[in-house]
Amino acid sequence: MTEVVIVGAGLGGLRVAESLRTNGYQGGITFVGDEPHLPYNRPPLSKEALKGGVDPESLEFRRKSGVDDVRWQLGIAAASCDLAHRTVTLADGAVLNFDALAIATGIRPRDLSIAGPRSGRFFLRDASDAAALRERLTPGTRLVILGAGFIGCEVAATARTLGCEVDVVTMDDVPMFRPRAFTLVTRFLVFTAMTAWFQPNLTTAHNLPVMSYLKQLARFLIRNGWRGTDSTYPMGFSSMTLCA
Ligand SMILES: Cc1cc2nc3c(=O)[nH]c(=O)nc-3n(C[C@H](O)[C@H](O)[C@H](O)COP(=O)(O)OP(=O)(O)OC[C@H]3O[C@@H](n4cnc5c(N)ncnc54)[C@H](O)[C@@H]3O)c2cc1C
Repeated sequence: MTEVVIVGAGLGGLRVAESLRTNGYQGGITFVGDEPHLPYNRPPLSKEALKGGVDPESLEFRRKSGVDDVRWQLGIAAASCDLAHRTVTLADGAVLNFDALAIATGIRPRDLSIAGPRSGRFFLRDASDAAALRERLTPGTRLVILGAGFIGCEVAATARTLGCEVDVVTMDDVPMFRPRAFTLVTRFLVFTAMTAWFQPNLTTAHNLPVMSYLKQLARFLIRNGWRGTDSTYPMGFSSMTLCA
């Protein structure tokens, strides 16, 4: 293998390149990134950087010396790839050949189809989004945030310190429900699975074998995600009693 193309110049892509070098790969590595920046740390975009000014260079990840020789094609998106011919075509029509391709393009926020003008609506995913939002966060500005997960709540806190009036809109009953529900349900599943492993005869208070209960819960979570509340999880999982 002599040429690896990595699409997406973010944390994931950088770690792929570093791992390749750490594991002895000495061939060429080319990054294709649609942002004009070297891989940088996004978490500060909803916190310090949003408050103090967005400078992607100061947020760049420290890169292992093994990747000093990689090629960076930045500010241009990969438009398509042809796996049969092992090529990636960039938005400007340039074609890159590869022996191996890594796609590390991250995720995008959901674009809600809400009627009305688009000006004044912001996403927060990259440095340019944060810079555009930062410009509008002046004292007295009214900000409505859709989503009360980590990022929504962090932006709310930051905007308040900048003197903005903030409303946060969420479908859940309380802010940060999903991140907390995820943690709670995961802990519960691990705990119960371990308990059932050592005591296979355990049943729930409804006389259901614990393993059957876990399967039922897993099916529920696959269908409904983490959006259930205690009363909508099957049999109120958080108050479930195990019987030996
Ligand atoms: C505002 C904000 C706050 C966050 N806070 C936290 C936190 O506190 N804690 C935490 O653990 N995580 C946090 N995260 C999440 C964390 O930043 C991500 O998990 C991480 O960035 C994922 O890395 P990645 O390399 O998979 O994707 P990304 O960092 O998204 O990198 C993917 C790159 O690929 C590029 N790309 C996409 N399509 C193409 C294409 N066709 N061609 C070329 N390039 C393309 C993208 O523009 C991007 O530059 C936060 C994220 C954001 C946006």
